[in-house]
Amino acid sequence: MKPKYVTGLDQVAGLTAEESRVLHPVVGRFEFRASDYYLSLIDWDDPDDPLRRIVVPSLDELDHWGRLDPSSEETYQVAPGVQHKYNSTALLLASDMCGGLCRFCFRKRLFIRHGDDVSLDVSHGLDYIRRHPEINNVLITGGDSLMIPTRRLRKIIHELRRIDHVRVIRLGTKMPAYNPHRILNDPDLIDLVRRYSLNRHRLYFMLHFNHWRELTDQAVRALALLQGAGAILCNQTPLIRGVNDDPRTMSRLLNELSYLGVPPYYVFQCRPTIGNKTYAVPVEEGYRIFDMARVHSSGLAKRARFVMSHAEGKIEVVGLTEEHVFFKFHRAAEDEDSARFMIYRRNPQAYWFDDYSEVVAEEALDWPPALVTHEQPTLFN
Ligand code: SF4
Repeated sequence: MKPKYVTGLDQVAGLTAEESRVLHPVVGRFEFRASDYYLSLIDWDDPDDPLRRIVVPSLDELDHWGRLDPSSEETYQVAPGVQHKYNSTALLLASDMCGGLCRFCFRKRLFIRHGDDVSLDVSHGLDYIRRHPEINNVLITGGDSLMIPTRRLRKIIHELRRIDHVRVIRLGTKMPAYNPHRILNDPDLIDLVRRYSLNRHRLYFMLHFNHWRELTDQAVRALALLQGAGAILCNQTPLIRGVNDDPRTMSRLLNELSYLGVPPYYVFQCRPTIGNKTYAVPVEEGYRIFDMARVHSSGLAKRARFVMSHAEGKIEVVGLTEEHVFFKFHRAAEDEDSARFMIYRRNPQAYWFDDYSEVVAEEALDWPPALVTHEQPTLFN
């Protein structure tokens, strides 16, 4: 089976003509795209079906809220399609499309205005990485890295492997959820993974399953093919209202992933991106859901951290008391913030770190961050 991609709501059999007419202004602002495979997983009798919420527009997306680039990614753009925020990590944004468009996407700007955030020509990125020996890991992303044709992907990975200081290559993808046939039907892709996952090297796939129902038989077979070829798989998901915002759903996702040998890596606070208000959960409520989900998860399933991808770094929410909320920089753009621990007065209405204003205490590292060098093995975000 070769899934087709659908870009018009009038082509979605599960929606009535009236529903697609009402949603027309939303699609005018934020594009719609899904595979017919993914649409077939939706329970169309349930207007609140979580998979429907992942790809089908909601009128609430027109609420004025959020920013186009809430994590200020553009600040860290060093060349067309290249971001360098953390010392050891570079992002190659080499794909301008995804298998489906998540309604809560944090990089909607890529699909709204087609600037130089993404570059299909990765030569500038490769040059930059060659000139920066501190970069020991590269994430190929976009967009979805598996929207890149396998031949082109092979060239990119081949060039990266020729750079001695690049020790880890990661591919960001939601294709196993949106279109597992991309993997099932492409023996060349599996050959590519096998070839570049030998000896002291592995390709990492940073997966994006948001709900356990996305782990269909086809998806599970696709994951097994990647693992069989030597890839390392991890999962990251935002915590999304109406999708995975209850502890049972989240713990089932974390547990099911762990059964498949896919460590849950990050659970993200939904970024305050334009159109995302309806999908966001306040930080403290999100932390409670995450924490409760972990209580119901096995040790292997509870390896995820709950973080905000803030402009200044990955800020982990590590705890709550009646009055205070505790944060720690998991990764910092500036050395002086590395591992900084911060206590703020609680704000149950906060959707982002910037909504906290009353700092109670903070403690930075008392050892020189200069000790962290690219010679240390694989420090990556
Ligand atoms: S897969 Fe990632 S980049 Fe693509 S639409 Fe979803 S959140 Fe955005």
